[in-house]
Amino acid sequence: MSELTCTRCGRDQPRLDQPPMAGPWGLRVQAEVCPDCWKAWQAEQTLVMNHYGLKPFVPADRVRIYEHMARFLKLSAGHQESE
Ligand SMILES: [Zn+2]
Repeated sequence: MSELTCTRCGRDQPRLDQPPMAGPWGLRVQAEVCPDCWKAWQAEQTLVMNHYGLKPFVPADRVRIYEHMARFLKLSAGHQESE
């Protein structure tokens, strides 16, 4: 099983079994974030969407949600928005 050093918690952990979402963000999360931290984001995501009134089916809102996700999970810099 391939492991990663999680960008958020710094621990060596197994990867998620599959990308948690379609597209490049899913691949980055799978490559950089451990399952525990992904679970933490899923809880946080609900709070973020409620707080900012973001709707994941609105493309512009989805970009904002991914920005919050990248900050929360401390994903490596240098990404570009592709949607
Ligand atoms: Zn982690």
